[in-house]
Amino acid sequence: MGTETGVKILIVEDNANNRLLLKAVLTYYGYAVLEAANGEEGLRLAREEKPGLIIMDIQMRVMDGITAVKALKADPSTKNIKTIAVTSYAMKGDRENFLDAGFDGYLAKPIDTRQLPETIKHYLANNT
Ligand code: MN
Repeated sequence: MGTETGVKILIVEDNANNRLLLKAVLTYYGYAVLEAANGEEGLRLAREEKPGLIIMDIQMRVMDGITAVKALKADPSTKNIKTIAVTSYAMKGDRENFLDAGFDGYLAKPIDTRQLPETIKHYLANNT
């Protein structure tokens, strides 16, 4: 714990409290954390920093997560970055919609912080 993994994770989330919680957990597990408050900032940081993984909120002003993931996946320089959607939606079909938009996975809010490290490892290991 607390050991640098060398892996950068980008959190794209407009709620500062949610960012703080995610950052605390990920930092504890040794990840270098980058933060963006909307999809536009997230895209810029993804292109500049090439994180190993992106955790992306859906509902955000300026640019939402669906628009941002489509742009990420359309850009050859960022399309291979694993991107996980986080949202409090619990509607039937949402998961499929997120995967169709280009997300590699989906996490429901509130995020289970005990499960999160295993989930992160799972996505980082699946480099297909
Ligand atoms: Mn939001």
